[in-house]
Amino acid sequence: MSTSGRPPYDDANIFARILRGEIPCDRVAEDAHALAFHDINPQAPVHVLVIPKGRYVSSADFHATAPDAAIAGFWRMVAAVAKSQGLEEAGYRVLSNMGPDAGQEVPHFHVHIFGGRRLGRMIA
Ligand code: IMP
Repeated sequence: MSTSGRPPYDDANIFARILRGEIPCDRVAEDAHALAFHDINPQAPVHVLVIPKGRYVSSADFHATAPDAAIAGFWRMVAAVAKSQGLEEAGYRVLSNMGPDAGQEVPHFHVHIFGGRRLGRMIA
């Protein structure tokens, strides 16, 4: 934990590099608060990642410290992306991996949107 009480953020993580435009992404949506792009290794016909634009490692960090407008904008984008990908009627799954036990690979808070087929049951 840093002196700010927030977990240290690694500016070299891949999503930070995407946000800085250093590496490309297959963009779905972008606004002042968030960026959505297709996962490079899709696990479903639709597999989109949504990331906030600030430097947030985890859900706790994001939801405790981001401005309310950023939090609202992030979740509005999640819903808008699901709609734009044609998932609203059939349904979809929103998932976030938090920390080592969940296997979080990229230490920048993000959610996965999965859809486009009947999804399996959640795995614990
Ligand atoms: P996590 O386990 O929730 O952290 O998942 C990270 C996700 O990021 C994985 O599904 C990866 O396939 C995805 N990913 C990693 N690098 C890239 C990239 O450069 N572009 C798009 N998706 C990526």
